[in-house]
Amino acid sequence: MQQLTHPPRIILKPGKEKSLKRHHPWVFSGAIARVEGTPGSGETVRVSAHDGEFLAQAAFSPQSQIRARVWSWEQSATIDAAFIAHTVASSAARRGGAIATRLIHGEADGLPGIVADRYNDTAVVQLLSAGAEHWRDTIADALAALPGITRVYERSDADVRALEGLAPCIGLLRGTALPLGGTASPDGIVIHEGAVQYRIDIANGHKTGFYLDQSVSRTRLGADAAGRDVLNCFCYTGGFSLAALKGGAKSVLSIDSSGPALELARENVRLNGLDESRAEWREADVFKALRELRDQGRSFDLIVLDPPKFAPTPATVERAARAYKDINLLGFKLLRPGGKLYTFSCSGGVSADLFQKIVAGAAVDAEVEARIEARLCAAPDHPVLLSFPEGEYLKGLVLQRS
Ligand code: SAH
Repeated sequence: MQQLTHPPRIILKPGKEKSLKRHHPWVFSGAIARVEGTPGSGETVRVSAHDGEFLAQAAFSPQSQIRARVWSWEQSATIDAAFIAHTVASSAARRGGAIATRLIHGEADGLPGIVADRYNDTAVVQLLSAGAEHWRDTIADALAALPGITRVYERSDADVRALEGLAPCIGLLRGTALPLGGTASPDGIVIHEGAVQYRIDIANGHKTGFYLDQSVSRTRLGADAAGRDVLNCFCYTGGFSLAALKGGAKSVLSIDSSGPALELARENVRLNGLDESRAEWREADVFKALRELRDQGRSFDLIVLDPPKFAPTPATVERAARAYKDINLLGFKLLRPGGKLYTFSCSGGVSADLFQKIVAGAAVDAEVEARIEARLCAAPDHPVLLSFPEGEYLKGLVLQRS
């Protein structure tokens, strides 16, 4: 009888409270001794150590290996619509009113499984955990209530939703429909990043439509590009290519395997009023294209390697390491003496340290000497929580060849 009057509770196995005491926000299924009550998907549960000590309040996810994600470390907090709305508003407020910015970066903003990007008056949200799904209306309302936001669009179509037992969800949540981006519509979303404008297709693009995490690195590359011959591999909708063209690059060769992404990239060149003759776009597999360029004896002053996540799971890290080494080796071979390589990894399972070792190995095999000019990471609107270092997925190196 007592169980019915108490909120559902997770009791951890002895010793398994340690990571939560350090404020790591996940409870893995293997750490749980028992669950009291019958919490539904996304419902709030109390998490206790084996001796009964209160640790956190968390969203229950019955199907996921990450069985609960922490909302609050306070026993007295009430996890209700007001709490969620307040946390969303605080997260947005930390971005200081920027209009092309990540508004919510999951765990780092106290909102596990929730991502939201702002493109002018549109917020694009991803609800990626059972807890996020449970509070979907509250989150949509809270985003719609932010100053300057008139529309909330959902892109909860990431694969990780399946791990939470959730089906994909795409569509308008609040506000009026937008004639959506892409070449078909002249009225899609256009954001400004420094001096560059980018058209964004929130309905069909990757993730929420654009890679805001690379904004600082794109601006840096733009400042490096004047008079240079640039090669941009995995260019998507032309992020680094546009920055380079605007920065005065002599030529920019951009490669991606996605036809629609390249179509939008070309449109972005016109949108910025840039000379199309300096830009060449190639729809190809980068692994093959780099070999062709090598065989043709081509070389460049500036090369960008910004591939997709090669290691989505820990089991794939070794294969990913070989792929990173392969493209970086070829990149070094195509780099002129004195030239710079901007190389990135967004695989959480590949640490900055491991990535640097892989790239160092590639330089040795390419018989190239290079210096680290800078270490790059995701832009500051993608914060990393000290207690959740897994959140630091993007790492980059700017390397200058001797
Ligand atoms: N640098 C971009 C983001 C890159 S996202 C920006 O700043 O916006 C990664 C891109 O790699 C995607 O556009 C995807 O279509 C592309 N891609 C993935 N595998 C590829 C491959 N083997 N060859 C070429 N492109 C690939």
